[in-house]
Amino acid sequence: MELTDEQELIQNTVQEFVANEVAVDVDEADANQAFPEDVWDGLAELDLTGLTVPEEYGGLDVDMLTYSIVNEELAYGHLAVATALSVHCLATSCIRQFGSEAHKEKWLPEMVSGRPVGAFALSEPGAGSNPAEMTTEARLDSAEESSAAPREVEASREDGEYVINGKKQWITNGERAGVVILFAKTDRDDPDSVTQFLVPKDVEGLEVGKKEDKLGLRASDTTTLIFDDVRIPAENRLTEVGRGLKAAFSILTGGRVAIASQAVGVAQAAFDDSVAYANDREQFGKPIIEHQAIGHKLADMQTDVQASRLLTRDAARKNENGVDPVSAAMAKYFASEAAVDVANEAVQIHGGYGYTKDFDVERYYRDAKITTIYEGTSEIQKKIIARDLTR
Ligand SMILES: Cc1cc2nc3c(=O)[nH]c(=O)nc-3n(C[C@H](O)[C@H](O)[C@H](O)COP(=O)(O)OP(=O)(O)OC[C@H]3O[C@@H](n4cnc5c(N)ncnc54)[C@H](O)[C@@H]3O)c2cc1C
Repeated sequence: MELTDEQELIQNTVQEFVANEVAVDVDEADANQAFPEDVWDGLAELDLTGLTVPEEYGGLDVDMLTYSIVNEELAYGHLAVATALSVHCLATSCIRQFGSEAHKEKWLPEMVSGRPVGAFALSEPGAGSNPAEMTTEARLDSAEESSAAPREVEASREDGEYVINGKKQWITNGERAGVVILFAKTDRDDPDSVTQFLVPKDVEGLEVGKKEDKLGLRASDTTTLIFDDVRIPAENRLTEVGRGLKAAFSILTGGRVAIASQAVGVAQAAFDDSVAYANDREQFGKPIIEHQAIGHKLADMQTDVQASRLLTRDAARKNENGVDPVSAAMAKYFASEAAVDVANEAVQIHGGYGYTKDFDVERYYRDAKITTIYEGTSEIQKKIIARDLTR
């Protein structure tokens, strides 16, 4: 797929940034589970923290293919950085798409500058693949509430406050974030009442809970967020009451193109390292790439990487002017499973050394796995694809 001059320019800029600033000290960040804030500042200097923000608010407002390319290149250097940025972009996209003019003016320029960092809080301990089972509640508290306001009346009301109680789990940027896009039910007993809210992180009653100690993606902070009688003004409701899940799924479709792109980036890195190693490492008197078993592994890996990239870029194109969930699901499913396979073979090609921290393939192996889980597991992507085939 041909890139425009502008897309190539952004790709080259990000590749240079990745080589000079992202792909350094990755092992230390991974070992210490410490997000590289200096890298984040660098992303902000390049305005990449405003990738999906309209230009009038200081953003780059890139097309989906460019967004995909940036995610791929960042993940090539460090998946945790790409993940943090893509979740920040989910948050800016929600404000862009569902926020009022006042929300956009207040939050977007600051988020383009890198702070506050955004988080996207949908999952809960008991509600992952099926977020409709969430129990976090945002109940309207206003003088008129006692008049048993039906949902339609509530939807048009901008006064009063919402009182939020519940727990969100697995929240990327949970610790670092300054603003949280929250999905909660306005009535815990009403499955159709999921609504989207904007919650500043410094509100009273909102606490960061457990930080997950993860297999991979270790530099990305993943935490629980606990809401204990958190009060926010009613004007912080982003969608109509009951429209939260539809909004989440529409935003996550673009998000899945980003995750597929990240999977391509990790797989490409694992492949490149493997080609270099297989050419250098000699056994039985010749480079191991000359043993057919290793050469064929590399052939499969290269084919997987390229097929993933083409499917992902096709999904980017199909999601440019609307939402196309099936193409995004196919890209995420294929590219993430391929990344796991490619990283697995990369470790194998490195032999015993691949099982140690002396080589990056060990990290790619751990990191790749998450792309099959977050923003919808592979099983859920297949469900989306199959549902479309059902008459
Ligand atoms: C590192 C990390 C970062 C994350 N970041 C965020 C974030 O920023 N914001 C956020 O809201 N969430 C986030 N998540 C949550 C993530 O999206 C969920 O973990 C994921 O959607 C799966 O939910 P679950 O873990 O509850 O698994 P479950 O839903 O309990 O699934 C368990 C298993 O059952 C399978 N399964 C479930 N239902 C079906 C079905 N109908 N058909 C077939 N198989 C099924 C699943 O595929 C899976 O294999 C993150 C998770 C991780 C690990």
